[in-house]
Amino acid sequence: MTSRFTGKVALVTGGGSGIGRATALAFAREGATVVVAGRNPEPLAETVELIEASGGQGSAVTADVSNSDDVARLVATAVERHGGLHVAFNNAGVLAAGPVADIDEQDWDRQLAINVTGVWLSMKHEIAHMREHGGGVIVNTASNLGAHRRLPGTGAYAATKAAVSALTRTAALEYIGEGIRINAISPGPIETTMSLLPGETEADRAERAKTTQPIGRVGTLAEAAAAVLWLAAPESGFTVGHDLVIDGGASA
Ligand code: NAD
Repeated sequence: MTSRFTGKVALVTGGGSGIGRATALAFAREGATVVVAGRNPEPLAETVELIEASGGQGSAVTADVSNSDDVARLVATAVERHGGLHVAFNNAGVLAAGPVADIDEQDWDRQLAINVTGVWLSMKHEIAHMREHGGGVIVNTASNLGAHRRLPGTGAYAATKAAVSALTRTAALEYIGEGIRINAISPGPIETTMSLLPGETEADRAERAKTTQPIGRVGTLAEAAAAVLWLAAPESGFTVGHDLVIDGGASA
């Protein structure tokens, strides 16, 4: 077993499912104590159970990343419980599809609040801690639909994810001098419920990917988690303000 994160405390938002859960488990397998955060306690508790079942250490904090008080409490709780915060994966996000003229105002506001304000608030509170405690590493989840390619029907989501890419790169420049290294991932379709079209099964999605994806398939959770761990690990130490596309060639 490798242990790139032994002695580190890693925070993962959206840790109750999908890419967040897979990455939380991967951090724990490599020695980190992992704090998973999200809005619903049950899936977070399940992630912690999975971490513990594999011999790792973790805990859960219920928090809405679009709420400033929640995010402040989340970071403070992680530090109090586990003695620090060294790695943060700001991954919580939502997608509401629809062409631009049909986007519902509530869906627009919700995506901005969670995808953009949520990442900003998370970085704000994480950086405040890290800059006082010797630095740290932050990875944000953007999307290939943000800064890298266009797909009709995803305009609002794309706007929020392009914002995450911009925010990531700007913050990276602002804080690298203080030992805080910030990067993003921009996944294409990964094998979570988010990449299923309405009414689509996983088998349908696999069939669709054969023609719509250059690589002929969707990405695995392991492939997404591996990219996050690389960006969070010392081996990527010279990589700053990068937005790593993981999309099987879709935006190439
Ligand atoms: P997912 O729906 O399983 O994960 C999203 C997580 O965010 C969920 O656990 C959800 O509970 C949490 N969340 C939502 N709103 C929240 C809030 N206000 N506060 C706290 N937590 C909240 O889907 P996923 O595919 O694992 O998505 C993870 C991230 O990856 C998202 O940011 C998503 O936009 C991004 N992404 C996914 C894909 C894909 O194809 N799956 C592609 C590109 C980017």
